[in-house]
Amino acid sequence: MAKASHIPSRVVIIGGGPAGLTAAYQLSKKSVDSLVLEKDYILGGISRTENYKGYHFDIGGHRFFTKVKVVKDMWHEVLPEGDFIKRRRLSRIFYNKKFFYYPLRPFNALFGLGLWSSFVILCSYIYAHWFPSLPEDNFERWVSNRFGKRLYNTFFKTYTEKVWGIPGDQISAEWAAQRIKGLSLLVALKNALMTQPAQGSSVVTTLIDSFYYPKRGPGMMWDAVAGRVTTMGGEITLGAEVEKIRWTSGKVQAVEAHVNGNPETHEGDHFISTMPIRELIAKLDPPPPSEIQAAAKSLQYRDFLTVALILTRKDLFPDNWVYIHDPEVLVGRIQNFKNWSPDMVPDNDYTCLGLEYFCFEGDGLWSMSDQELIELGKKEIEILGFAERSEIVDGHVVRMPKAYPVYDNQYQKALATIKQFLIQVPNLQLVGRNGMHRYNNQDHSMLTAMLAVENIFGAQHDLWAVNAEQEYHEEMTDRDAQLSEKIAALASTQPLVPSQLESFSRAEAGILRTFSRMDKLGFATAIGSVSGMAIFLMTMWLVIQGGDLVGPHLQLLNQFFLGYTVTIQGAFVGMAYSFSWGFLWGWIFAYFRNFFMGLVVYRLKKRIEMISFNDFLDHY
Ligand SMILES: Cc1cc2nc3c(=O)[nH]c(=O)nc-3n(C[C@H](O)[C@H](O)[C@H](O)COP(=O)(O)OP(=O)(O)OC[C@H]3O[C@@H](n4cnc5c(N)ncnc54)[C@H](O)[C@@H]3O)c2cc1C
Repeated sequence: MAKASHIPSRVVIIGGGPAGLTAAYQLSKKSVDSLVLEKDYILGGISRTENYKGYHFDIGGHRFFTKVKVVKDMWHEVLPEGDFIKRRRLSRIFYNKKFFYYPLRPFNALFGLGLWSSFVILCSYIYAHWFPSLPEDNFERWVSNRFGKRLYNTFFKTYTEKVWGIPGDQISAEWAAQRIKGLSLLVALKNALMTQPAQGSSVVTTLIDSFYYPKRGPGMMWDAVAGRVTTMGGEITLGAEVEKIRWTSGKVQAVEAHVNGNPETHEGDHFISTMPIRELIAKLDPPPPSEIQAAAKSLQYRDFLTVALILTRKDLFPDNWVYIHDPEVLVGRIQNFKNWSPDMVPDNDYTCLGLEYFCFEGDGLWSMSDQELIELGKKEIEILGFAERSEIVDGHVVRMPKAYPVYDNQYQKALATIKQFLIQVPNLQLVGRNGMHRYNNQDHSMLTAMLAVENIFGAQHDLWAVNAEQEYHEEMTDRDAQLSEKIAALASTQPLVPSQLESFSRAEAGILRTFSRMDKLGFATAIGSVSGMAIFLMTMWLVIQGGDLVGPHLQLLNQFFLGYTVTIQGAFVGMAYSFSWGFLWGWIFAYFRNFFMGLVVYRLKKRIEMISFNDFLDHY
């Protein structure tokens, strides 16, 4: 957290993506000098728009959707209504040359898959419910237990493996639990049959069916922000790769960048970084302690490339994008940019498709030449049956390294180590996606940047806690209700993260602790023993007291306990009887109590799961 007691004179920002440009914009509005150093020759980072011969395309297709008012306000402030258009979303699964709605619609699925496949899917679903595969420790089992193995193989396996590059049985069940919480075939069917989800329900926010979009792609927004920054006196330098961050204990002094091959040093009293943490730590001069370097090196990324193909076809499909589930092609998703906005293509008789391939930097796909990738794209478009190879007249490739910060088993520990170290340099703030190793959307990057600027002016926001820990939201409520509101609004539009799974597990564990199962045998034995002992002691007490007529009322028990008398011998008989009855009723009670509690716990669990119901395929 940064703390400043004075008005900053110059802030140096590393990276000209949404986070860096938002920070520069906010600083310019406060009349503070800022310098954005962007290593590429194009602004917008992952949210850029490429322009190839007048055909505009994104890295992945970027929807503008947020519940954070300050973010929304900034978008609308920067781009006028006519340039920032509202679009309806259509994105379906393409499998076996047919389109399927997601979430699944029963009749569409039935007609698409055919009667026999649908029947087999239903049988496999019923089988999975009766004989679930345990333990549910991997993605494949988690999904198969809820949807059936057959549906898993049809709609989840291939796409997930394409995106993450590892087999489904090696992906932690956490990923599935985050993404498909509460979703089962029945829930999917229920959703599909519901005509209109209730306003404000989680379904509305996660299955966002309309969004804003700059008419020439997200880059238009970031170019407009940059234009405003420079008009207000801020500086933005393209082709400026930060190579060194010079620091001493207590502060960062300057950054060294190579601008078009020439070294430049830039001093500032505050620094905001949006570059990947792994690189930031490696570029610290002098190098930080070895454990910090090791923590940074352990952070992993998944990379991404787009093959844009231009076709002599007016219409191909009405979707903004389609998910490709066929295993015989490597492409994971296909964008149809014209359907995002008609202004994305220079000639309406043509279509520009963006074929998205998920890969690791240096792997087979990544290392293919651009021409080979374009050839691969053409071949796959033909295999899928979208168009003939002869209809594809041109192509262009864009590689995006570090598109996805990977959440593996070590990243949280590594981040904690790095965060602790960074306390020493409070004039350096990390914001944004790779800047914080956060699998986020643009609004998270923008909000962290806005809060970083407030920190420069003396606020003390913990940027790491933005949309991270529930506890922070609660803690914040009293301290800063407005910020708390922003963070809560942000949470609903972010891709879910493992920490939320932890809170889910905590809640589940809490319920299970509170309503833990009763041990039937133990409870029955306890009730039997107490009742047996009570009859024994009562009988013995009356026998010891003696008199003409001993225990006439207790004697009535022999109506139920055959052979019972108020005598020493009868005390043992009564004890045996009441132990047996007590045992029986205790067992029955415990049985029904467990049964009803089980139902309550199940319903509660389902409700918790439903809170986080998320569109499985989104944000990939
Ligand atoms: C496929 C895909 C689809 C997505 N879809 C959506 C969507 O629909 N909606 C949405 O809101 N979000 C979406 N996102 C997320 C969105 O792209 C990010 O949240 C956003 O771009 C992050 O902005 P940022 O500024 O934090 O980081 P980045 O966009 O990564 O920008 C960082 C910038 O820093 C620069 N840089 C790095 N190192 C240096 C250096 N050493 N020196 C100088 N500059 C450097 C980079 O070149 C880059 O320009 C999607 C992401 C992906 C991968």
